[in-house]
Amino acid sequence: MNQAIVKNIMDRICKLCNNHIADKTGSHIVPHFLLKRIENEEGKTGRGNELGFVIKTGDTFSYFGREVSPEKLEEVYGDLTEEEIEANSHPLIIDHIFCSQCERKLGVIEEKYSQTLNLKSNNNYSSGVQSALGLLFWASIIWRLSISGNGGMRLSDPQNERLREMLFKILKTDFKEMDLTILKKMKSAKGITYKLIRSPDYSKSSPTFLHFYPDSKYPYTLIIWEYILFFSFSDNYTHFLKDKFFGIQNQIFAASTNKPAGDEELIFYLPIDVMKRFNNGLIEFIKNIRVDSIFSKLDALHVKLGGNGTSMPDIIKKEIMQEITSDEKKIGRAQTAEDLAASSIKVLQKYIRK
Ligand SMILES: [Zn+2]
Repeated sequence: MNQAIVKNIMDRICKLCNNHIADKTGSHIVPHFLLKRIENEEGKTGRGNELGFVIKTGDTFSYFGREVSPEKLEEVYGDLTEEEIEANSHPLIIDHIFCSQCERKLGVIEEKYSQTLNLKSNNNYSSGVQSALGLLFWASIIWRLSISGNGGMRLSDPQNERLREMLFKILKTDFKEMDLTILKKMKSAKGITYKLIRSPDYSKSSPTFLHFYPDSKYPYTLIIWEYILFFSFSDNYTHFLKDKFFGIQNQIFAASTNKPAGDEELIFYLPIDVMKRFNNGLIEFIKNIRVDSIFSKLDALHVKLGGNGTSMPDIIKKEIMQEITSDEKKIGRAQTAEDLAASSIKVLQKYIRK
């Protein structure tokens, strides 16, 4: 058979069972009950109403709900090009990735886990579900973000397969038929642990979002709504020995580790003011990645124009950045690629004339 046809067929096979045709449309990569909280659009919580903004910077990906206006995004992120804001797209709702049966199975743990959101405390607390269920639930999100290719992160192939196998072997279309005790005996689950931090009610006063922290693999780190999830394939949290992580380094190590064989899922409480500082720090960090990404475009331009070496001199970069943010444009306002080009040309012409 022709390779393209084989690929086409494989693309249509359910990613969870690897068996049935992926007939399901509108699959949520991040469960609807979480997505709607990020989107937070008053009065409209039904499926199909999801809309939001995707921010892409280099390899990073963030997702904001539509309650967050473009002006607000510019305020928090600084300069954004139209390419970087993809309004009204549904990157986290995908067709033909699962079969109807597997979609139902994922729905079963989502349904169970969604009940834990109503529980909250001004102290560290137990969410009321077994840690094995919590582990499967969070694994299912990390895995879906990874295999969809839309989540700003990709696990290694063996890691993807470990999570798929765990989910495939344990999930059932009826919760009563699920045996969570298998998890602690499974080879693919060995070493997998997670820590979960939550700032209850943070979302009442501040916009929330979804963001995969690009710098850490030990553990993988996902910021989602009021939660910060640390997910490790080898019970390894060493990345944060060095990374202060915007003020919550101590909390990460103080948080309980949830294991496949654990008791109830434990959630570490983060006060709202600490979460606010954390989020501001994170956004500042993402903003800096954005500046780096403009700088690398300028370096490419420099090389294309036949400049010496591989990078544009800092003094010229600085001038171009000043030009970009000049006039009445406040620092960090939206610029298009054309703006960047126009500013670059204006500054470079001055140097060429010299
Ligand atoms: Zn399936």
